[in-house]
Amino acid sequence: MTVIKIPARFEQLDPRFACAGDAWWEHHFDDGRWTEGPVYVPAGRYLIFGDIPNDRSLRWDAATNTVGPYEHDTNYANGRTLDLHGRVVTCEQGARRVVRVEHDGSITVLADRFEGGRLNSPNDVVVTSDGAVWFTDPTYGIKSPYEGHASESELSGNHVYRIAPNGTIAQMTSDYVQPNGIAFSPDETSLFVVDSAQAHIRRSSVGDAGLTDDTVAIRADQGTFDGIRFDTRGTIWAAAVDGVRNYATDGTLLGKIHLPEEASNLTFGGPKRNQLFVTATRSLYSIMLNISGAAPRAA
Ligand code: MG
Repeated sequence: MTVIKIPARFEQLDPRFACAGDAWWEHHFDDGRWTEGPVYVPAGRYLIFGDIPNDRSLRWDAATNTVGPYEHDTNYANGRTLDLHGRVVTCEQGARRVVRVEHDGSITVLADRFEGGRLNSPNDVVVTSDGAVWFTDPTYGIKSPYEGHASESELSGNHVYRIAPNGTIAQMTSDYVQPNGIAFSPDETSLFVVDSAQAHIRRSSVGDAGLTDDTVAIRADQGTFDGIRFDTRGTIWAAAVDGVRNYATDGTLLGKIHLPEEASNLTFGGPKRNQLFVTATRSLYSIMLNISGAAPRAA
């Protein structure tokens, strides 16, 4: 499709929200069933995202400002991120695993089992400055054939896991219902994880002993949350039922940028990390803001 510009409705609820750049969204793509998993690849100036029920991924290219096919048979890929070497790490719901695409195009499986049982359906993923890979493992990809393969869980529950740089997998949480979007504060002292079944975002302190001081930091007053990201100011951007929302870490809703479709996930891209890309139901949107997404911390 040709890019269509639609007015962006900014709803400011707190002075800290000031982020307006473009007054419009660019609507890049509208032919998906449930788009998800956006990752911006700076070296190629492109963005990969998925269309999960159609089991395919697509690529937006900065040079042409167009979207084209990228991959078919993605194992119902959901969340994606980049690791410290610029390699794409992907949650494959259908194959029930987390994989990394090497620079030569080959696939390395990072995790597919825990204590003998297959993972449920990894949903979203983030890499920390020590090279560890953290991911969430709800049951959305095994609950029905819509975005994976219907099957039973083989695990004790739906948890957050950490894959250490040496490959060791550790279960980091025990009481989430459906852990989903995941992000660290820019200084990596706090972990934020969406429990989309509970319509809230929980915060934990990160230390040598694991996660402590777990608390509900942000509650959705409407719908629930899916993907989340931080900006350089240390505020959270969350995919929500009415578009994207910006929260302070104490739970204060700073503002919204409305969208005509429910958002599933988001990421910051572009040379200055100030182009906010949002996957939303059938679509991919972007908007250039006057603030930037948090950059990965140097190792
Ligand atoms: Mg998700």
